[in-house]
Amino acid sequence: YVHRARAEGWRSRAAFKLLELDERFSLFRRDMAVVDLGAAPGGWAQAALKHGVAMVAGIDLLPIEPLAGAQFLQMDVEDPAAAGVLLAALGGRKPDLVLSDMAANTTGHKPTDQIRTGALAQIACDFAVQTLAPGGAFVTKVFQGGLDAQALAALKRAFAHVRHAKPPASRAESSEIYLVAQGFRGALKP
Ligand code: SAM
Repeated sequence: YVHRARAEGWRSRAAFKLLELDERFSLFRRDMAVVDLGAAPGGWAQAALKHGVAMVAGIDLLPIEPLAGAQFLQMDVEDPAAAGVLLAALGGRKPDLVLSDMAANTTGHKPTDQIRTGALAQIACDFAVQTLAPGGAFVTKVFQGGLDAQALAALKRAFAHVRHAKPPASRAESSEIYLVAQGFRGALKP
């Protein structure tokens, strides 16, 4: 995958994971507004734009090389201002697709890493249910045992379909999997 990514001009091998998820779940539609959480170096944004989405607003702690059609913000997703800045980057449009491939920097202590990445997935879930356009979709990396039962139940209420998938491009020895939620029912009434 690393060789193929380089040969085909993808910024990361991670791009293949999203392309494989798209093959299985038909995520991309023309003219979509997409949010990409944890976007560096930009492979997922490239994959989305190659499939005709209208715009991508991406955020990462790391700087990202510019990409036509994408606006990248160097910012912590945990910053309370992050959601507003991302929505502004979409020109006030509600996203149709929220993606999160965020992973916390590893400490080498697996349980700690999984808890930290779980917290990032929860932030991504909250962002998705607060901002998605009706009918929208949400994809996030989680680790096996990932989201807690309560968060998963909330997603099942908010979306028509919630499924887990391990794309072939995800290393077998990695415990990462992806949660794919489609058919957003609209923000829940308080
Ligand atoms: N999907 C990307 C691609 O295809 O190029 C790869 C994403 S990489 C696996 C995970 C990213 O999550 C890293 O670049 C990391 O900096 C970012 N990240 C981790 N914690 C973050 C946070 N709190 N706010 C924003 N980005 C974060």
